[in-house]
This record gives sequence, C-alpha cells and structure tokens, in this order.
Amino acid sequence: MDYTQILTQIHHDIRPLLGKGRVADYIPELGKVSPHHFGMALVTPDGQTWSVGDAAVPFSIQSISKLFACTLAFGLLGEDLWRRVGREPSGNAFNSLVQLEYEQGVPRNPFINAGALVVTDVLCSRFVQAEAAVVQFLRRVSGNMAIDYDVAVAESERQHADRNRAMAYFMKSFGRIDMPVEAVVNAYCRQCAIAMTCEDLARAALFLANGGVVPWSGERVLDPSPTKRLSALMLTCGTYDEAGDFVYRVGLPAKSGVGGGIVAVLPGECAVCVWSPALDHSGNSLAGVQALEWLTTLSGHSIF
Ligand code: GLN
Repeated sequence: MDYTQILTQIHHDIRPLLGKGRVADYIPELGKVSPHHFGMALVTPDGQTWSVGDAAVPFSIQSISKLFACTLAFGLLGEDLWRRVGREPSGNAFNSLVQLEYEQGVPRNPFINAGALVVTDVLCSRFVQAEAAVVQFLRRVSGNMAIDYDVAVAESERQHADRNRAMAYFMKSFGRIDMPVEAVVNAYCRQCAIAMTCEDLARAALFLANGGVVPWSGERVLDPSPTKRLSALMLTCGTYDEAGDFVYRVGLPAKSGVGGGIVAVLPGECAVCVWSPALDHSGNSLAGVQALEWLTTLSGHSIF
C-alpha cells in the first residue's frame, strides 16, 4: 500500500477544511489552540511509520484517554467491568446526564463521560494515582517515556468540571462510584490532559491492530478476545452520538477526543491517528473525520 502518496494527497486536499468547525473552548486552555493544525500518522506492526503535517506536535488527548483507561480496567476486571458500565451506544452527547436517571446510574458505555468516570473510579480503587497508571501504560505501549499530562490543561479542566462532578455525584447516589468523587474527577481531568502526538497515539493503539500484543516489545496487553471486544466498542461507541455516521463514512473502529484527535485501527494492518482541533457539532474533529474517510476510500481498506 502506498501510504506516502495517500497521506500526501489527504494533507493537500484537507486544506480548505482547516479552521472549519469550532475548537473546544469549554475547557479554556483548549480554546487557545490554533484551529489550523493538521497532522496524521499511520503505523504498521512491522515498525513502519508514515506521517504528514503536525504529526509530531503534542496535543491534548482528552477522551482518547478513555480508550486506554478502559483497556487497563478491562484487563483488571475482565467481564466483571460490564456490571458497572454498559456496552451500548448512548445516542446522546458525550457529556449528557439524561439517561443516567432512568438507567439507575449505570452509564451506557465506557467512552461517554459518565462511563469513563466509572472506569476511572475502578482505577482509583486499584492504584494510588489512577492518572499515573494511565500515563505509565501509555509510555509503555507507545515507547515514549516522556509522555505526561499537561498541568495547565488539567487545572483548567478541573475548574470547569462541574458537569462531570454532577454526573459523578449522581452516580454515587445510586451506589455506582466507590471512591470520593473529588478524587475520581481530579484523576479523570489529569488523564484527559495527557499530551501526545499523532505518532505516539498511533503507536500506542497498535496493540489493538495486533491481537493485543505491542509489536516491538512483545508485551501482551490484552488477550485476542478482549482486544476484539474493545475494538467492537470503539466501532459502536467511540465517536459519541456520531458513531453511526462515522462508521458509514470511515469504516474503522475509532476513539475521538475534544482536543481534536481521533485514533483508529484496522485489525491486522495498521493504527492511525489524525489531529485537527476544530470540531463538528458532535465534538469530533471535522477535518479529522474527513481525512479518515479519504484514507479508507483511497486505500480501499476498512473493516468492511
Ligand atoms: N475532558 C473532556 C470532558 O470531560 C473530555 C471530553 C471529550 O473529549 N469528549 O468534557
């Protein structure tokens, strides 16, 4: 596959879209990022990397962290994780509270905020610092030991986390959160504030394309069956209430974040990360979704 040619073409054709959409500014530090960035990196299990644009510029991974936190929690609890959080698309915004009341405080899936807070609660009850566990994991699976969370973004998010706090307290009222809410919300804000590049993220997600094993280190992160299940969840729930349209357009399991990043995997073949900060109405990177649609269209490769 000539990924050099495909990524170069995408990088060229995406230009009119850069700056369209809105940078997330409900977290003030994120609002400072230029909407004109665009980067894309694709890695294969044999160690090859293709990248264009700002693929080596760190950005706030935000909800992409939910994928890795969930990997850790799934590894720890196995199928018991699903007693605490569901596996259905929510059809609602990622930060919506509405379903929580009539579903007795059990979030629909681990990739919306309520579900991610439950996952962080699981990690808080197992690790002294849940966010440090996520950071360590990401360093290991990406091979970049310098990865960390951005203190200014974490603090900005913590100061504007009233909706997440409300969700966590609401779930606690149903007995669904074990640890103190402030500790869970703080760990969640730090985990979302982790800064990584497209190249880091594509490498970090490669175990999902490789049956649960990090190709260059040989570390088994998950067994093949949970790896398949996690990828299935990405497909149905990874891009919020746009998941149906995203799958129609792109045809890959993916996880997005309001920092403008999207990580996607093609099992057996590659992991890819695209970043452009301006978001569409659902909170997915507007140029990022388009770039991934072109990638699977031009390459003719998707899961379908
Ligand atoms: N930290 C963000 C929040 O809790 C993550 C949301 C996202 O990336 N969709 O609102």
